[in-house]
Amino acid sequence: MARHRRGGDLVHLLLTLLLAAALLLAPAAAEPEPAEVAPTAPAQDASDEVSDAAAQHQQQHILPRPLVIELPSAAAAAAASEIGGGGESPVSGDEFPPEVRCASWRLAAEANNLAPWGAVPAECAAHVRGYVTGAAYRSDLELVATESAAYARAAPLGGDGRDAWVFDVDETLLSNLPYYADHGFGAELFDHRKFDEWVERGEAPAITSSLKLYKEVRDLGIKIFLLTGRTEGHRGVTVDNLNNQGFHDWDKLILRAAADRKKTATTYKSEKRKEMEAEGYRILGNSGDQWSDLLGSSMSARSFKLPNPMYYIP
Ligand SMILES: [Mg+2]
Repeated sequence: MARHRRGGDLVHLLLTLLLAAALLLAPAAAEPEPAEVAPTAPAQDASDEVSDAAAQHQQQHILPRPLVIELPSAAAAAAASEIGGGGESPVSGDEFPPEVRCASWRLAAEANNLAPWGAVPAECAAHVRGYVTGAAYRSDLELVATESAAYARAAPLGGDGRDAWVFDVDETLLSNLPYYADHGFGAELFDHRKFDEWVERGEAPAITSSLKLYKEVRDLGIKIFLLTGRTEGHRGVTVDNLNNQGFHDWDKLILRAAADRKKTATTYKSEKRKEMEAEGYRILGNSGDQWSDLLGSSMSARSFKLPNPMYYIP
């Protein structure tokens, strides 16, 4: 009996300890799990505002972070223009050698992942020069042209003369590499006056892979619209330059009129494509070296981005 009593005392002691532990832990267990926080509980008074702020703080951790897409802003554009001839490292940190950092910069530029930029970073001037003067640039251009031609051949044509292809001119049909060779391959800030002098010489050579694509698209019976940021004042020299380099028989050459001068390329080119659509054309393809040639409204069924790490046009 005595042993039973001692055993009973021990059970009683254990139950008492468990009860005490349960009471101590009760407030913590009563607190809501983060997932149970009401996301939109309205504040009732000052004390509720405090708890509401705490709930919002918790929400920041339990709700998925929103995908933040930063659109090019005036501030970013201004910052880009202040880069000048470069001087800033394209990728922070010394973990990667300059060649790797510059390859990352160039890929980001081509993928339109960079904020508006005014010049190639000084650190990457040699990298860009090596790329645009070497086989890689020509190979990249050739690949874009080959894919574009394959798409054009496979595209279902309406047979009514309303299928169209839009080509940009500079760094798409004609190359300004001779000019940029004298101006740091994009490491110098763009100089309108000097570039206009170059344009007026009418000596820009054809990008040979683009000339081949141009002829193939034209021979398929697709209408060709040349849509360029060059101004009407350069129409004559542009026509001569294109003809001299083997580009013939386009259907329309569209240049910036005075009313277009202050528009971004994206706006100006979107408006012109809209006019094409209003005239009944179906824009099957669009070839350009700038995203502003391709994005916006009235976009083509397929867009083809040619490489250009030398400059950025918004
Ligand atoms: Mg261009």
